[in-house]
Amino acid sequence: AAAKAPGDPLVLPPNTSSEHFRNFIKRAREITGSENVFVVEREDQLVDGNYMEPNKTHDMHHLFDRSYFTSSATVAPRNVPEVQAMMRLCNEFDIPVWPFSIGRNTGYGGAAPRVPGSIGLNLGKNMNRVLEVNTDGAYALVEPGVTYYDMHQYLEKNNLREKVWLDVPDLGGGSIIGNAVERGVGYSPYGDHWMMHCGLEVVLPNGELIRTGMGAMPDRTAGHRDGLRPDEQPGNRAWQLFNYGFGPYNDGIFTQSSLGIVVKMGIWLMPNPGGYQAYMITFPRDEDLHEVIEIIRPLRVQMVLQNVPTLRSLSMDAAVHHPKSYYTDSDAALSDAQLDKIAKDLDLGRWNFYGALYGPEPIRNVLWSVIKESFSKIPGAKFYFPEDRPEENSILRTRAQTLQGIPTYDELRWIDWLPNGAHLFFSPISKITGDDAVLQYQITRKRCEEAGLEAICDFVVGMREMHHIVCIVFNREDPESKRRALWLIRTLIDDCAKYGWGEYRTHLAVMDQIANTYNFNDNAQMKLNEQIKNSLDPKGILAPGKNGIWPQSYHKDSWVL
Ligand code: ADP
Repeated sequence: AAAKAPGDPLVLPPNTSSEHFRNFIKRAREITGSENVFVVEREDQLVDGNYMEPNKTHDMHHLFDRSYFTSSATVAPRNVPEVQAMMRLCNEFDIPVWPFSIGRNTGYGGAAPRVPGSIGLNLGKNMNRVLEVNTDGAYALVEPGVTYYDMHQYLEKNNLREKVWLDVPDLGGGSIIGNAVERGVGYSPYGDHWMMHCGLEVVLPNGELIRTGMGAMPDRTAGHRDGLRPDEQPGNRAWQLFNYGFGPYNDGIFTQSSLGIVVKMGIWLMPNPGGYQAYMITFPRDEDLHEVIEIIRPLRVQMVLQNVPTLRSLSMDAAVHHPKSYYTDSDAALSDAQLDKIAKDLDLGRWNFYGALYGPEPIRNVLWSVIKESFSKIPGAKFYFPEDRPEENSILRTRAQTLQGIPTYDELRWIDWLPNGAHLFFSPISKITGDDAVLQYQITRKRCEEAGLEAICDFVVGMREMHHIVCIVFNREDPESKRRALWLIRTLIDDCAKYGWGEYRTHLAVMDQIANTYNFNDNAQMKLNEQIKNSLDPKGILAPGKNGIWPQSYHKDSWVL
């Protein structure tokens, strides 16, 4: 290969010469200012970092070579017109661009692009304002860089938590927009983040700016006036109150998609319920899974279980407490006998259920009595409030924060299960039935054992279904461990597809494989997605390959992984 000229990136965008790239970067610097353009020139600039200090250039939890899913450069626009200008520039130069808000999309690819050499569009660096918190309407309007932690601080600083609570995911460092558009979840009654979004402002692939729902209607009473920049126009008074507006409902096509860049989003906040109690219920036997799930379903569907509760395998909680080496010298996955012993030592069950009660005390008492009575049918079930657990390393105490919308960073400790711990998530959707849960768990454990990796999993119970989250922890400095992790997820995807179980979200490396399992009627949905993609983004410059959707300008067969 020709020697790299100064200013060349480590990985050029596809079909792009050095000169073309340099001209592009020159123009990008003119748009955003040089301080907001960073070219990845050398391997040693690819520093994995960690959750607290994530990199913005590649996948921290790299499953392939560190430099495979890598951007050529990151560009951080300072405002909406600069996002629009960048989209026009990328079209002009035919260079792919991958937007991200914070880049902490941990277990799913982080800030990394699907197509090596794409421009990483770092939205969060400069566009990070909380634009509004409205306590009467119980909503907020945010920019991409607002993290759960930022929002929490904002509520605290302004004494707003007395009025409204935020729903947070397991870890507080991600962005509210990035998580919602990826259809991530939290654990309060408002746990389905996409369900709770209301109103978007989106830059389309051609640089056009739209507002969805009621936002499409100018509102002079809210201060809309001619001559103001579109992105600076105050929104319609009902933009964050009513999702649908008029005509086709567009918002869904901007989730897990390559059709637009979300630059503002409304999110509903939960009114402070006037009382709160987190709890844990432990179940002693692995076989209790079936009955526990059968008890959960009616309670959850009736909303006696008010929040998005989780049923966690012991291995998950054990991994939060200690690395694997603390429990065993062996390389193999833990046996049932070992897990039983660990359960005893940690005073936990083989399954541990975390939930919360919301409302004034009389309401909580009624709900608690129903919940307690229902789960008491399982022999050996034990019931705890946070104060019943030790102060040190108490998962219940951490969950007690999360379930009331206070973000934490503690949950990630399970990543240190192995040295150089990295992870990817395998996350199929299932019915809330004992049969489904047990079968999924058995398949998962069997394959994990074959791979010599631990089945660290939990069931996250939505309103009608469960997200079964399997955390595949591997050693990112050990090629064999990476190989096994990839084998494991690929095998599980195929195994589960045979039962009609599909994943709700995934890592870059297996987007193609999963997209291919959603193939009803000769891939009719994919054909529709491709048609929409090609008409909104004819050059295929925005996030090509995301969720398995390849623009017409790409020869799909040569890109599919
Ligand atoms: P987090 O905010 O949790 O760190 P990321 O910023 O890494 O998450 O975003 C995860 C993924 O979501 C990105 O890779 C991208 O595909 C998509 N995404 C994030 N922010 C936006 C946005 N503002 N507009 C469109 N897609 C986005």
